[in-house]
Amino acid sequence: MERIAAEQGLGPLRSAVNLVKPGVGETTRVLLRRVPWKVLARPELLATDDAGRLLCGDLAHVLLLAAQRGCRLSRRRGCRTAAWGSSTRASRPARPAPTGRRWPMSRTVVACDLDRTLIYSARALHLEGPDRDAPRLVVSEVYENAPLSYMTRAAEDLLHELLGHAVLVPVTTRTQAQFARVQLPATPYAITTNGGVLLHRGTPDGAWSARVRGAVARGSAPIGEVLARVCENAPPWVDRVRTAEDLFAYAIVDRAALPAGWLADLSGWCAGRGWVVSLQGRKLYCVPSAVTKEAAVAEVMERVGASGLVAAGDSLLDQGLLELADLPLRPRHGELEDAGYTRPGLRVTESAGVLAGEEILRAALEAAMAPSGPQAAGAEASLAHSSAMRR
Ligand SMILES: [Mg+2]
Repeated sequence: MERIAAEQGLGPLRSAVNLVKPGVGETTRVLLRRVPWKVLARPELLATDDAGRLLCGDLAHVLLLAAQRGCRLSRRRGCRTAAWGSSTRASRPARPAPTGRRWPMSRTVVACDLDRTLIYSARALHLEGPDRDAPRLVVSEVYENAPLSYMTRAAEDLLHELLGHAVLVPVTTRTQAQFARVQLPATPYAITTNGGVLLHRGTPDGAWSARVRGAVARGSAPIGEVLARVCENAPPWVDRVRTAEDLFAYAIVDRAALPAGWLADLSGWCAGRGWVVSLQGRKLYCVPSAVTKEAAVAEVMERVGASGLVAAGDSLLDQGLLELADLPLRPRHGELEDAGYTRPGLRVTESAGVLAGEEILRAALEAAMAPSGPQAAGAEASLAHSSAMRR
């Protein structure tokens, strides 16, 4: 209880611990008698099936009471259910009156790109200002026994909170193996390989993969032709070339050494053969035009009966996803920023780097919690928080 009180910033320890009420019984009692500020629960107790129904019924009455009280629910690993009340000693304001919304019934899908949108390598953090003011970071990926990617601690909290209000779908160009290294909370669906693989509860959907590969075979030149074009004349700026699950190709390049026009020439050549080129950091991707994140997200939306879509991404491979979204979000860095990409309703973060991830999650959470859905939330939020994110 002391640790929870300290983590939640409840004030001086001696009085703060009295505001924390551990266990289902205490939580129920507080919810019946008072208006708690927040309820904490282990994520596994809040897992839902594809229709949003709880897999474990132990907390069903707690969730109902919390919804009736307009009380915020947060996931926290390793804790028993806990709540603290808005007694006269409470330092937190009471939540407003019940809204009548059942919990958790949101069908908003939040589709979020990973690299340089949700998680950041050390090179992509873009921390500014004095070191002592830097945000606290958590490791989101370990590679060969060393930390490789990060998000802020605040972003991690927002991510867990978002799970209670929306269907979160991680969407990445990473391969399945590369995605498996990323330490994210379990979600019903995840999309890897730029949309070529649809994971349902961690298992690839064979029918989806077959559909994508069929479309690639019909609409794009063979991958061997693209590999040969990228490696033509052994360009010294191409360090190495790889294929991702035999579906697309990527190369590690020296950006500073790229000759003017080489990328544009390659993009034009690929476009004529049903391929798309994207340069992200040192990685150059060549992807068949039928392998898209937005197609896979549309499939997930249909399966879960989504009522709206919030989407976030930073690269050209995310552009179709942003076009599909009711509320599109992008960070103030990356390929789309460099290209000056915009569209009606687009919101761009104020920050670049790892702090942009935090802004994106906060905006997604606001949209998912908005009674009218992400489209209305996007419009309202852009007015209310014009200083935080810009169009
Ligand atoms: Mg990205």
